[in-house]
Amino acid sequence: MNLLQVREMMLFTAEKMVESEPELTALDQVIGDGDHGIGMKRGFAAIIVLLQNPNFNAIDIGDLFNQIGTKLMTSMGGASGAIFGTFFRAGGKSIAGTTDFNAETLSKLLNDGWQAVYQRGNAKPGDKTMVDALAAAAKTATELTSAKLTDALPKIVESAMQGAENTAQMIAVFGRAKNLGERSIGHKDPGSVSMAFILKYMNDYLQ
Ligand code: ADP
Ligand code: MG
Ligand code: MG
Repeated sequence: MNLLQVREMMLFTAEKMVESEPELTALDQVIGDGDHGIGMKRGFAAIIVLLQNPNFNAIDIGDLFNQIGTKLMTSMGGASGAIFGTFFRAGGKSIAGTTDFNAETLSKLLNDGWQAVYQRGNAKPGDKTMVDALAAAAKTATELTSAKLTDALPKIVESAMQGAENTAQMIAVFGRAKNLGERSIGHKDPGSVSMAFILKYMNDYLQ
C-alpha cells in the first residue's frame, strides 16, 4: 500500500471508530467512568478533520501514523489519549521512511508501538487493558511478516479480537476498573475493544 492508500484506510477507520462510540461508551459504563466512547469519538473525529484537510501533508507512512498519534494525544484526553497517542506516535516513528505499507511494516508498527505503550503505562498482557489486544495482534503479526498484507491482517484482527475477549476473564489492575477488583471479571476492557476495532476497520477497508 502506498501513502495515499494508507491515508484512505485510516480515514475509513476513523469514521468507523466515531460510529463505534455507543458500543465503547456502554463498555466503559460497566467497568470504568463511561467516557471511553466519547474520548475515542473526539480523537477520531479530529483524525477525520486532519486527513480531509487539503493542506495535510505526510512525508511518508511512518509520519502519517506519527501525526495521527499526536492528534489523538492532544484531542482525546484521559488515560486512553496518552496510551493510543503513544501507540501511533511510537509505531509511526519506528517505520519512518516507509513508502510501502506491508505485513512487515505493520508488524514493526504493532511491536514497537506496544513496547512504547508498556514504557508509558507499565501494563503487561493479562492486566486487562488495550495491551491484551495489542500484544496478541503484535505476536501474530510477527509470525506473518512474509505474508501478503491482505492475508496477514485478517489473522491479526482475529488475534486482537480474541485478546479483547480474553480481558473479560481478567482482574483489572489499572484505571477505575481496578477498584472493582474481582467484580471486573465478566466484563471486557473498553480500550482492548477499541484496539481490536481499529485493526478490524483497517482490514475491512482492505478486503
Ligand atoms: P480513563 O480511564 O481516563 O477514563 P478511557 O476510559 O478513555 O480513560 O480509557 C480507558 C482505557 O485505557 C482502558 O480500558 C484501558 O484499555 C486503557 N488503559 C488505561 N490505563 C492503561 C495503561 N496503563 N496501559 C495501557 N492501557 C491503559
Ligand atoms: Mg473512562
Ligand atoms: Mg475518564
